[in-house]
Amino acid sequence: MAGTRVAVIGGGIGGLATAAALQRTDADVTIYERSSQLSEIGAGIQLTPNAVRVLNALGCGDGLEEFGFRPESITGLDWRTGKLLFRKPLIEVCRERYGADYFHIHRADLHRVLLRRVEGTPVRLGAACTGLDTGGAGPATVTLADGSKVEADAVIGADGIHSMVRQAVIGAQPARFTGHVCWRTTIPVDKPRPELAEPRTTIWLGPKGHVVTYYVHAGTAINLIAIIEADEWTEESWTAPSSREAMIATFAGWHPKMLTLFQMATDVFKWGLFDRDPLPRWTKGRTTLLGDAAHPMLPYLSQGAGMAIEDAFVLARALEAHADAAAALAAYETVRRPRTSQVQLASRAQGESFHLTSPWARLRRNLRFAVRSLTSRDKGFETDWLYAHDVTQQARPALQAAA
Ligand SMILES: Cc1cc2nc3c(=O)[nH]c(=O)nc-3n(C[C@H](O)[C@H](O)[C@H](O)COP(=O)(O)OP(=O)(O)OC[C@H]3O[C@@H](n4cnc5c(N)ncnc54)[C@H](O)[C@@H]3O)c2cc1C
Repeated sequence: MAGTRVAVIGGGIGGLATAAALQRTDADVTIYERSSQLSEIGAGIQLTPNAVRVLNALGCGDGLEEFGFRPESITGLDWRTGKLLFRKPLIEVCRERYGADYFHIHRADLHRVLLRRVEGTPVRLGAACTGLDTGGAGPATVTLADGSKVEADAVIGADGIHSMVRQAVIGAQPARFTGHVCWRTTIPVDKPRPELAEPRTTIWLGPKGHVVTYYVHAGTAINLIAIIEADEWTEESWTAPSSREAMIATFAGWHPKMLTLFQMATDVFKWGLFDRDPLPRWTKGRTTLLGDAAHPMLPYLSQGAGMAIEDAFVLARALEAHADAAAALAAYETVRRPRTSQVQLASRAQGESFHLTSPWARLRRNLRFAVRSLTSRDKGFETDWLYAHDVTQQARPALQAAA
């Protein structure tokens, strides 16, 4: 693959992870980012062991130590009474079972960590991709907003849920409003303050909604995500400024500890949550999709960024293994599509389980949680299939099998 020209469209987490994974190859990589500066908006992200393992392999471990926060457990609480519904211990269990930690990190910090790893890779800012010839026997051609054209041997569409590259690959298809909206904010604190939020992932589970809190910025801010079901999303954009008062009014009657935290919120943003059914294909000629462009999902298994990071690793190994870029992209898709499709559908199912309204269904679910909590240390989590998946070991044999 020496000298293979790779155009990465989008400088978000998926695009930067792709460039980081291609660092050890001889590929000639350029990132094209629509925004005039590389930055991420203010919200947290949970990185589960399957993603952390890849970030460690990409040399980002020090950055996770510097900016991340290790939660002691994932804990489910009843929305009204605060009663404990389940507790999954994380720190030792993740190390013993998965050989990698579980981290919370602010998105801007993760972005910074990845950016450090791709130092030297050209990043063209204010360079929106506006058109694309996906290539075939010859190279692909990317058209940029200023009208200039760039040839590439491989184009990677890491341009998010409203991907322009996806349109060129499979045609226009709007994303689906899931009926879920969420408020997101971060609350600065000088150190973890258990009277506000415990040093863990806390999930308050209620009818038609749930609220998640955890620490970011190495324990100096609490990240808050409050999700509720709604009939429609009327905003033009998929994110809009909102207010603390609107958030508090929506969650009236929920537990006072949670509402105390809501009172401390200042900059509150509201998001409509969109996803897609798994796509039938991601690749056309010398162009493929990665991250949310390929498989946008509800965030309830904390896997959107994790899947983009796994994709990036496998894609880089595929380009390394194949002299022909088109064959590399096809092999990458063969390896990645089944896993990400499974995660997309499982994320939806998780939302349904979190938001149950029938008291009987909730009771059954809570009993299941209780049994799992008692046995999880010995038998592993129900998310074993997610966390134990190790692309750093499996990519090469899986790509060989796909060839
Ligand atoms: C409420 C919420 C909570 C979440 N929590 C988690 C979590 O805990 N763990 C987790 O793993 N994931 C989580 N996610 C999902 C995660 O944020 C996304 O899956 C991830 O950011 C996808 O990365 P990406 O690089 O594919 O896309 P994006 O982050 O959307 O990046 C796309 C980039 O492409 C650029 N771009 C767009 N169009 C063009 C164009 N035409 N030309 C050039 N550039 C373009 C954009 O400016 C952007 O920089 C959450 C999502 C939400 C909404």
